[in-house]
Amino acid sequence: MLRPSNASVPCDQSGVARAVAALRAGGLVGLPTETVYGLAADARNNAAVKRVFTAKGRPADHPLIVHIADISDLHEWAKDIPAYAHALAERLWPGPLTLVLPARDDTSRLLTGGQDTIALRLPAHPAAQEVIRQTGALAAPSANRFGRVSPTSAQAVVAELAEVLDDADVVLDGGDCSIGIESTIVDCTSARPRILRPGFYAEELINDVAGIAGVPVSEASDVPRVSGSLPGHYAPSTQVTVVQPDDFAGMDGARLEHALVLTTEDVAVPSPAAHVMKARDALDFARILYAAFRRADELEVQEVLVTTPPAVGIGVAIIDRITRAVHGSAHMNP
Ligand code: AMP
Ligand code: MG
Repeated sequence: MLRPSNASVPCDQSGVARAVAALRAGGLVGLPTETVYGLAADARNNAAVKRVFTAKGRPADHPLIVHIADISDLHEWAKDIPAYAHALAERLWPGPLTLVLPARDDTSRLLTGGQDTIALRLPAHPAAQEVIRQTGALAAPSANRFGRVSPTSAQAVVAELAEVLDDADVVLDGGDCSIGIESTIVDCTSARPRILRPGFYAEELINDVAGIAGVPVSEASDVPRVSGSLPGHYAPSTQVTVVQPDDFAGMDGARLEHALVLTTEDVAVPSPAAHVMKARDALDFARILYAAFRRADELEVQEVLVTTPPAVGIGVAIIDRITRAVHGSAHMNP
């Protein structure tokens, strides 16, 4: 059980020092990043990395993302790095981008889920950077139990994992995540980049920066194992249902009353709806998406009624996460 005094440690000098000490001692840290909170372990400590899998209930063949503090650290983990991957790192790091690269022979296969590829990211959150600078590379998948909603606040990490963390583990409170959904994952192991998971950085930007046409997402097949690509991932316990903006007008009042509605400011939602969350734009939508899912579970409403943003820019990633949440929640609410 997480010691209460180690839950939500503020992101000041002493909080960072506690997080660093915990990681050096082989402990786990709930780490703020700009995408979602990670559950971090020293990437070079196999026992600590194993605990990440146990705490999350994550199958051992699902690889972790290794977070580094400097672009030059790429070479400590990856080999045969194509020029376009360097271009992506130079332009888009620090930031919500994960590069999948050929793993060096001495890179632990515990991190790669047994594969010969390693996922690397340089996060933009200043506290994450500060911690990694002091500890060295950290393996950090999202700080949720396997298949569930990624946490976007320190409180959500505590709610999700307090029971499976230890006395010596720490949750560092870096505030609400500014992006709110997971990084764009780009496979850089072939001649052309290929997006494995959409995110804040859209396909057009990735191709543009890479300076080479990527494998179109629609044509991608035989993709490597990416846990975020399972059909039912990122799911709350509450059933998630996609609706059209016009659907609200004719909707049964009782249905609205027992739902949490997540939509945009321009959509009119009739008054029987007690719980309404409205996003200003697509970026705001991404920021509040997982908080809305968590709130629905806390409120024990019957449904999340969600409209989807246009399928451009970050909208593609939002639709991807909503689609998986619909699928995953349908399994829990047969
Ligand atoms: P998360 O647990 O949300 O941080 O997710 C990490 C994501 O990165 C998962 O979807 C992983 O499967 C994916 N990932 C990590 N390493 C690799 C790799 N070597 N090849 C493909 N995907 C990877
Ligand atoms: Mg995850």
